Amino acid sequence: MRPLHLPLLLLAGAVAALGQSQTTPAANDSKPAPPPEVKSFDPSAMDKTADPCTDFYQYACGNWVKNNAVPADQVRWARSFSLLQERNRYLLWKDLDEAAKDPKTPLQKKYGDFYAACMNTDLVDQKGLTPLDPAMKLIDSLHNGKQIASLMGKLDADGAGGPLFNFGVSQDEKDSSKQIAGLFQGGLSLPDRDYYLVDNPRFTQIRKEYIAHVTKMFTLAGDSPEQAAKEAQSVMSIETALAKASTSRTDLRDPANRYHIYTLAQLDELAPDIDFGVYFKDVKVGQFDTLNVATPNFFKEVNTLISTEPIDAWKSYFRWHLIHSSANNLPKAFFDENFAFFGRTLAGQKEPQPRWKQCTSMTDRAMGEAVGQDWVKQNFPPSAKASMDKLVAALEKSLGDDIKTVPWMSDETKKAAEAKLALFRNKIGYPDKWRSYAALKVERNDLLGNAHRAAAFEMDWNLGHLGKPVDEKEWGMTPPTVNAYYDPSMNDINFPAGILQPPFFDPNIDPAVNFGGIGVVIGHEMTHGFDDQGSKYDGKGNLREWQTPADRKAFEERTDCVANEYSGFEAAPAHGDVPEQKLNGRLTLGENTADNGGLRIAYMALLDTLADEKKSIDEKIDGYTEAQRYFIGFAQVWCQNQTEQVSRQLALTDPHSPGRWRVNGSVQNFDAFGKAFGCKKGQPMYPENSCRVW
Ligand SMILES: [Zn+2]
Repeated sequence: MRPLHLPLLLLAGAVAALGQSQTTPAANDSKPAPPPEVKSFDPSAMDKTADPCTDFYQYACGNWVKNNAVPADQVRWARSFSLLQERNRYLLWKDLDEAAKDPKTPLQKKYGDFYAACMNTDLVDQKGLTPLDPAMKLIDSLHNGKQIASLMGKLDADGAGGPLFNFGVSQDEKDSSKQIAGLFQGGLSLPDRDYYLVDNPRFTQIRKEYIAHVTKMFTLAGDSPEQAAKEAQSVMSIETALAKASTSRTDLRDPANRYHIYTLAQLDELAPDIDFGVYFKDVKVGQFDTLNVATPNFFKEVNTLISTEPIDAWKSYFRWHLIHSSANNLPKAFFDENFAFFGRTLAGQKEPQPRWKQCTSMTDRAMGEAVGQDWVKQNFPPSAKASMDKLVAALEKSLGDDIKTVPWMSDETKKAAEAKLALFRNKIGYPDKWRSYAALKVERNDLLGNAHRAAAFEMDWNLGHLGKPVDEKEWGMTPPTVNAYYDPSMNDINFPAGILQPPFFDPNIDPAVNFGGIGVVIGHEMTHGFDDQGSKYDGKGNLREWQTPADRKAFEERTDCVANEYSGFEAAPAHGDVPEQKLNGRLTLGENTADNGGLRIAYMALLDTLADEKKSIDEKIDGYTEAQRYFIGFAQVWCQNQTEQVSRQLALTDPHSPGRWRVNGSVQNFDAFGKAFGCKKGQPMYPENSCRVW
């Protein structure tokens, strides 16, 4: 989906491991097998030699971290997320494999064919680059900068992906009942603008290797080494200029920095050399008079670049992006070279993923609500939904109590916050009404064609929202996804069936562990409605200040405290001439606020639940009090290992903190933790001064 609209997730989805090389032994030898179920509360994961009051993450996760290195086909390995993702993917694979061999319904035939086409790597090798011919012809016909807009429109409409910027339809930030068009920056291949712009030995080396990689891909496509080297320089020059023109991720967190309504005439004035009229016609969007130009400066710079860069440089740029974005669906040589740079060099992934995993994920991404229909029938019992309804209600009550009692907010603002909370909606499990895939054509012998048609289908679906009423029942995640999100324009919290299972949610375990797991997840998503971004939207999902100026100031003093605290945490250590990297407390502010709030309100909900059941938080089960089990259960959701490359990449790109700091950062701001473990005031996890927003 086009990144115009930024729902707030529980976990980044952006570092999925790269796929497999078609004929390596790993691919052929790997037989899908069911991963074990993950325990909700696991004493064997703990390092009991560590002091919980000094380093709680080490105490709760130390043994697991020591014994569970990142597998060769992964870049990050998390006790709860990764194992459940692997399990859900395996169960989905069984459906796809079955549908590919013996479909029972027309829909199964369609997604079975999609999966089968992806698995047929011999045919992919045989076809070579010919499936790219139509898009290559479009690029070759580029003769002057004026035609770039039309090329972009046609590539987007065909699903080949216009790389230079992003276009789509989303809710108007100031009138959420309207769905409007929007233009957003884009155009880069490396993970962040910093990779192009920051001068340090690590990035200098990555840029050198990136140019070598682009050169190699052009030679694989048939260009001479000299020609390929020249083309790679053109790509680097254009992408570096785009990186300079891009707004940073941290600045984009402020909705005001990504909301600029333009008339078409004003857009023409901003970027007269980009023929947007032609782009809109060729991308096949309906009529409109105004749109959101999220990042005007970016389009001003693109406008300049169009006349300063020679047309041959632009052709190289478009060819590169076409080959690059298709690499997973091209013959082995392209696949391997793509993996060598983007998998091994950039992310530290040792081996490609087995093909069946890659194809299962690809089918889920392309036809999520088709495969999800059958998946939830087997993997999401109605009783799970009923239990979730109860938990969500308990968490809503706690957040309401929290709003009533926070010391820094005036009564007037508290009323406004309560009004917003009262308008929260929640979606649990899967959509009430499934999307139709009737318009998507799938062919069993055409992987790349299927990929492009699926992208075109998605673009068409998105653009079809223009000017229509908002459908509150639409989902932004597929049912087997192990994640959750809050959408500020919808003011809703969303929990796919994929996460509503052990270890997050286990009907057979004591409430403390469930509140530490799925309870904190629910509280986290709710708190997003009141973090540095979410708090700028009202209950109807419109950007509108509802805090008094004094309360906004008090809020910002408190969020500053959180930002400064997390900016002190280390993301990756120094070694050789590579400097230490710290977390960016501003980029991660919303997620950290949500973690802190989620931990507190889920604990309050647990206290209420235990009181209803006439039980005490000090009651022991298997040697731990309910309070201790709550915090250990919470921490064990976040036990993880990841490659150093990914730690460094995510510190720049991911609004979420790594597991260690999601745990230690949150517990040290919550007095109930220090009390539960009998810590002394002043110990690291029970400090004299801590931060609290909610
Ligand atoms: Zn989040």
